[in-house]
Amino acid sequence: MLQNTFVIKGNFLHTPTPDEFQVYEKAFLVVENNKVVNVFPSLPDAYQNASLYDYSNDIIIPGMIDMHLHAPQYAFRGLGMHLEGKDWGTWFMRYAFPDEMRYHDLEYALSAYGRFVDDLMLTTTTRACIYGTLHREATEALMDLLEEKGFCAYVGKVNMDRNSLDGLEESTEESLSETFKWLENTINAFPHVKPIITPRYIPTCTDRLMSQLSALAHEYNLPVQSHLSEGLDEIEWVSSLRTDISFYAEAYDKVGMLGDAIPSIMAHCVYPTEEEFHLMQTKANLWVAHCPQSNISSSGGIAPIKKYLRAGIHVGLGTDMAGSCTLSLLRAITDAVHVSKAWWGFNERKNNLHAERNIIPLPTAFYLATKGGGSFFGDVGSFEPGYEFDAVILSDNRIKDLIDRSTKERLERLILMSDDRDIKAKFIAGRKVI
Ligand code: FE
Repeated sequence: MLQNTFVIKGNFLHTPTPDEFQVYEKAFLVVENNKVVNVFPSLPDAYQNASLYDYSNDIIIPGMIDMHLHAPQYAFRGLGMHLEGKDWGTWFMRYAFPDEMRYHDLEYALSAYGRFVDDLMLTTTTRACIYGTLHREATEALMDLLEEKGFCAYVGKVNMDRNSLDGLEESTEESLSETFKWLENTINAFPHVKPIITPRYIPTCTDRLMSQLSALAHEYNLPVQSHLSEGLDEIEWVSSLRTDISFYAEAYDKVGMLGDAIPSIMAHCVYPTEEEFHLMQTKANLWVAHCPQSNISSSGGIAPIKKYLRAGIHVGLGTDMAGSCTLSLLRAITDAVHVSKAWWGFNERKNNLHAERNIIPLPTAFYLATKGGGSFFGDVGSFEPGYEFDAVILSDNRIKDLIDRSTKERLERLILMSDDRDIKAKFIAGRKVI
């Protein structure tokens, strides 16, 4: 038996480029030292003695990467999505902040995060960039749980030293000293789960906190995650708080947190001004986390994802739990296509019968959920040689019809219709976790 080598047999689909699915039917994928060697039409002699997983009847896709989710908000998902009139805009104060406050209690945090991690395992997600709360101990517990289950993840202790609620606000000093302690405790503690510097967003972080967090990120060589230009009211708020900047992204850029030396994920990016867009275009280490369901739930607008992709800006998909009510990235792929249809219908198509259809095609949305976000983790999210082996094996037995469908059609239906019942196995960085 070959050491550190195994073979998967089945029907593989992936998107090396955003343009189309590459399909390998009844093929053999060889994994050596947790990385893809290649996909072969027949098994090469050299691997005849390697152990074999036979998924001949199933669909095998790369594991998916959730680029933006709030773990503490999982507990109250599905609440507050229908606030109207004056109540619209009170979601944070009614639900998000009071619920995040509970994570002061470590016992509560362990139970709630335990459920979150268990349920995340039952999705196609293999890696994620996750927000905790401002509570250090609860965030460390979340990292521990994710590592134990086998996930690869970046997790952030959230920083917020203004504009929050009593009980969910730190002084600047406290925020910095707790962040420092958290980094000391976690930076080398887990092989697959790492800290990520997480200023919640500009309205809840003072200038001093931002510049000190940036210093920590640079000192420890850690990535950053935050929110950018999600809604018009938020952009207005930022411009009233920060009279020294001419557009939102400058607040991150001024402190070196917009994808220069250290990688940075900015969630949403719905309303870039032309200046903001041009600045983003110059940042090689910037990833946009597109959260389509959240774009709709918040009525905030729809991010111009095709424009970002055309400009060469990295884009991944996020659920933005609990701006969405599901951890499913299959659903996020569907939503990314659907919101792009809505955008086209109300903009380019509006009153123009001959407008050329300009939406996000399914392979592109799939690419965002796999290789697009995966690039933040290195060579991840594809079955190309040398990529880390993250994969999900899906069975369509439950949903298939009486007609012989093509492999692409089978995947299309799985994306739109499947759920945790259809996940047969999952591999993360070469390890079988389901
Ligand atoms: Fe968010």
